[in-house]
Formats: sequence, structure tokens, C-alpha cells
Amino acid sequence: MPYAELPKPIRSLLVAGGLEPEAPPERRIFTNRDLNLDRISIVGFDMDYTLAIYRQEAITEVSLRSAVDKLIGRGHPEQLRAVEADPRFAIRGLMVDKRLGNVMKMDRHGYVGRAYHGRRRLSSEERKAIYRFQRLGQERERFAEVDTLFELPEVALFAELVELIDSRPELWPGGKPPGYAEIWQDVRECIDEAHRDGSIKDLVRKDPGAYIERDPDLPETLHKFRSAGKKLFLLTNSFFPYTDAVLRYLLGKSSPSYADWLAYFDWVVVGSGKPGFFGDERPFQELDRKGAMVGAPRLEVQRGKIYQGGNQLGLQASFGVHPDEVLYVGDHIYGDIVRSKKSSGWRTALIVQELQQELAVRRAREITLDEIEALYTLRARIAAQVSAERHLARALGRVTVEELMAREGLDEAAATRLLETTRASVRRQVERLRAYEEETREILDRRGLEVDETFNPYWGSSFSERHDTSRFGSQVEYYACIYTSRVSNFRYVSPSKYFISPHGSMPHWHVG
Ligand SMILES: [Mg+2]
Repeated sequence: MPYAELPKPIRSLLVAGGLEPEAPPERRIFTNRDLNLDRISIVGFDMDYTLAIYRQEAITEVSLRSAVDKLIGRGHPEQLRAVEADPRFAIRGLMVDKRLGNVMKMDRHGYVGRAYHGRRRLSSEERKAIYRFQRLGQERERFAEVDTLFELPEVALFAELVELIDSRPELWPGGKPPGYAEIWQDVRECIDEAHRDGSIKDLVRKDPGAYIERDPDLPETLHKFRSAGKKLFLLTNSFFPYTDAVLRYLLGKSSPSYADWLAYFDWVVVGSGKPGFFGDERPFQELDRKGAMVGAPRLEVQRGKIYQGGNQLGLQASFGVHPDEVLYVGDHIYGDIVRSKKSSGWRTALIVQELQQELAVRRAREITLDEIEALYTLRARIAAQVSAERHLARALGRVTVEELMAREGLDEAAATRLLETTRASVRRQVERLRAYEEETREILDRRGLEVDETFNPYWGSSFSERHDTSRFGSQVEYYACIYTSRVSNFRYVSPSKYFISPHGSMPHWHVG
């Protein structure tokens, strides 16, 4: 019996007794590859953008401000201070063409579906002229992938700088602004520096509430894993003082059963240097509870202690279980998921914050999305018919009156009439279908625009591109065993849930 159909008093009784309430749609967990939570004995978490969900607008704003300060310090024009970047301009999964100053979004085949130069959208002619034959594998150096939420501010800032270079080159000494690639490098370095020198982290540490959402369900979710007998670990690239401030804000004093945030985790590894952590053999440095170094670096670790650095094999050895009994939850497709999956054998859960809005929009625009789906199918059918009719028209064009007279014994007038009327009717059919095709395309474009606008006015949905999976969407699908919008969504599922993936299919499996 579906849970929602149980009588309400029974439902609340069950929930009070510990049964999970039903997850709101935005908080569901999705499965790419079967995963049995019952077989998972250890669950690890990344911190930034995984346990800690940042307020993107606030973090973009401080990243921009500190990067702009540093850029001006490097000799870029003072006018940069007036730059207002739109945080919606940058989303995960974009690709930056450093050489030409463009930012683009691709579908799962690597085809560029839309692109901007600065903040100006390239027309489809411009886009095709540049990228039609561009394959990324050939020119790795020229492109930068945007695959973490950390990188969004630099993309927004880069686009503004490209605008400024094009519209006001006189702002730079001698009217000679740097090239786009050079500007990209400067923006990258300044943002990196802002992260490294504490310009950003100090602000967050002073007032975590302004930059990080406190998720009231998080402590309970971790506790639920622990009560089910699972051990937990933290594996973050952030260093101890920052980690301590953030997790104290998120987990400290959240429950009388836990003295502090450290009590939730059996192993804590900070400053881990992922993705290198998964392949290198660096030693672990033990830290005390205040973050001070204790003893000499070593290769093996013990449960219940705090370490900095280290490597995956050493941590795995301390777990004492097979790697496929370990689930690692992170937000970085490459650093957390691809590398860990390839070299550790750990199972993976990807936190995709963007899903929350994606699912809300999908729900709100359900009818339009269904219409788009139907229109695409229709358009494909019409296109197939147009092509068949044109093939027929070409064949008819080759038939002569003389042939028809000789073969069918018709007189010239009858043969001419028959051929003309047949050709005319095929022509009419092609015209009718083409008009229909055009009309369908127009409605499709209009509906597509409407929906894109709701997802993101510049890029549409992060997960799709032109009715296909986007490059980002296909990475989410390909690399993560399961994915969801936030860690606390696990509170809605049983700790022994068997996640079963929808079965894949290929076009030739559905021949009717
Ligand atoms: Mg992270």
C-alpha cells in the first residue's frame, strides 16, 4: 500500500515510532547504479558544498569583491569596482573558451548548444562558425571546465571583464587591454589567492550564518546513520580552523548525545588535498582537538583521531572493510567522485544542490514540459515524412512522359496529365508537411524559451541542453551511484534501503 494512502493517524504514529516520513519531491534521492545501503558500513562526507550548503549569492559577492581588489592591485583599471556580476550567469557544467573569451554549455556529445561572448549571446551562425567542428579533446589547454560551485564567481567575473575589454579598452594603459586568456588567468589566480589568504574564509568564519545555511535536519540524519550501526568519516580539503568553525556552526550543540561536532565522526581528515588524496602516498599528520600538530607524520591512522593530509589507502586500511562497503558523499564530480570511484572502489553519492530548483521548476512547468516532449516526437515524425516525400518527388522527377507512354500504352496527353497530377500532389504534400514542421518548430522554440527562462535566463536547465542531457547532466548520470540535492535527504530513507536504478535502454531495444 502506498505510504500516502495510509490513514493519517496511522501515518503519524508510524513516523513517531521512527518510520521515515515521505520525502518531498525536491528531496528525493535518485539512482544511477544499484546501491544497497544495508551493505554499506562506513559513510564518508566531504564538507564544502556537501555538509555545508553555501548561500551562493553571498559567497559570489564576497569572492567577487576580494578578487576585484586583487585585480586592481595587479594593475587592472580602478573601474572594475563598478562591476556588478549577475550570479545567475554562472552555473556548473559550463566550459570557458579562454582564448576567445566565450562561455558555453554543451550537450552530452560535446556539441555546443549555446555560448556567450562576455554577456552577449552568440547567434547560432556565430556559434556554429566557431564550434561546429571543435572537439574539446584536441585543445585541452584552451578550455576550462566549471565543475564546482566554488568556481562560479570567477566565470561571472570573467564575463564582465570580457565586456569591459571589448567596450572600453582605453581603461588599460596605452589602450591595450590584456588578451582574454591572460585575463582568465588573472581572475583565476586572484580568486585562488582570495581563498588561500583567508579573504573569503575569514569572513565566513566570523559570521557563518551569513554564508552557510544551517540545515536543521543534518544532525538527525548523521545520527540516524550512526544508530543504524554505520561508522562515519569526514574527508575535506579545508584545514582544521575553518572546518572547525563551519561544523561547529552546523552540528555543534545540536544534540545532547553529541558533545561536539567531532563526536559524529569516527575518522576526521582535513586538508586532504583531494584529488591527490586518492592516488598519492602522502603521510598523515595527527592534530589535537585544537588543530595543533601532534607527533611525526605517519602512514597509518587510528579511529577517533584527527589527521591532516594523508592518502586513501591508509584511511582504507584503518576501516577494516572491503572498499565497496564504503559510501563517499561529495559534491565535486572530478575531485570527489571520479577519482574516488576509479582508484578507491568506494561507492559514491553526489550532492547536486541545483536539483532542488530543477525539480521545483519541473513540477511547476510539468504541462509545458510534457508538451515539449510531445512536440519533439511529433517534429521527428514530420521530418521523417518530409524526407520520404522528397525522396519520392526526386524519383518522380526522373520519370519521363515517353517512358510512361511506352510502358503503359498511354497516349501523350493522358501520360502527361497523369505525371503532372501525381507530381503536383506529391509537391503539395511536401509543402503541407514543411509548413507543419515550421509551425511545430516555432511552438517548440517558444515553449523552450519559456521553460529555459524559469530554469535560468542565460542557460536553461543545468541538466539538459536542447532536449538532450547536458554534459553536466551526463556526468552526474555516469559517475555517481546515487545523487540528491543535500545530505539531509537521507533522513527520508531507511538506512538499509536498496536503491535500484531504472534499467537503461538502447534505441534498437524498442523495435515494435
Ligand atoms: Mg566540496
